[in-house]
Amino acid sequence: MQFCDTHIHLQDIKTDLNEFIKTAKSLGINRFITVCATESDWKKAAAIAAAYPKSVTPAFAVHPWYTKQAQTDWEKRLEKMLNEYPKALIGECGFDLLKNQDLKTQAEVFDIHLQLAKKYHRPLLIHAVKAEMLLAAYWQKMPEKFIIHSFNGNGQILEKTIKYGGYVSLNAKILNKKNADEILRFIPAEHLLFESDAPYQTRVEDIIGLCKRIAAAQGKSVENLAQIVYANSIEVLK
Ligand SMILES: [Zn+2]
Repeated sequence: MQFCDTHIHLQDIKTDLNEFIKTAKSLGINRFITVCATESDWKKAAAIAAAYPKSVTPAFAVHPWYTKQAQTDWEKRLEKMLNEYPKALIGECGFDLLKNQDLKTQAEVFDIHLQLAKKYHRPLLIHAVKAEMLLAAYWQKMPEKFIIHSFNGNGQILEKTIKYGGYVSLNAKILNKKNADEILRFIPAEHLLFESDAPYQTRVEDIIGLCKRIAAAQGKSVENLAQIVYANSIEVLK
């Protein structure tokens, strides 16, 4: 089985990165999208992607926690990065009302990411915490490819993501929910991606257990589900 970790912060991994990637690969996790939270991450993510060109693809953005700290003209420098790295995605960006109450700045910053995703035809990796209502204004404006990262089981978000042709990205944290199997049963495999959000939310290897649990909930073989989800990630990366 092969897996792609579609949301990881490789530049924040504190252990030896070579070993880290080698171990992940030995478990079948052989592709990674390394996402950025602040501008200071961009060059680091780009360097890691350059060091592992077959395995790592970078995604550049300003995370909703850090919208206030974004330096003047960050959007111009982001655009420059996208030009410089034609395979790069855009993320993680979005809304977080739990940690940041400054909705106006978050909306301005998200809009810029959204416009750049459309202009450069790049997938958009979206962080949305306590933000279901806010996303309502954006579903119809989404770029060709978008991913709702760390999907928490919200039925409305799932419905809209399917309707507008996006993906929900799951990490093993969802298994802590009481009704996890109930949620997992109804997520169409064609709209599903796996992530760890390491080193923050889960470990890379947790993707495998998550895949098993979803396969069981949906009455599929693990191999079959893994294959569909891997194909989704290749489609996103293409
Ligand atoms: Zn993250």
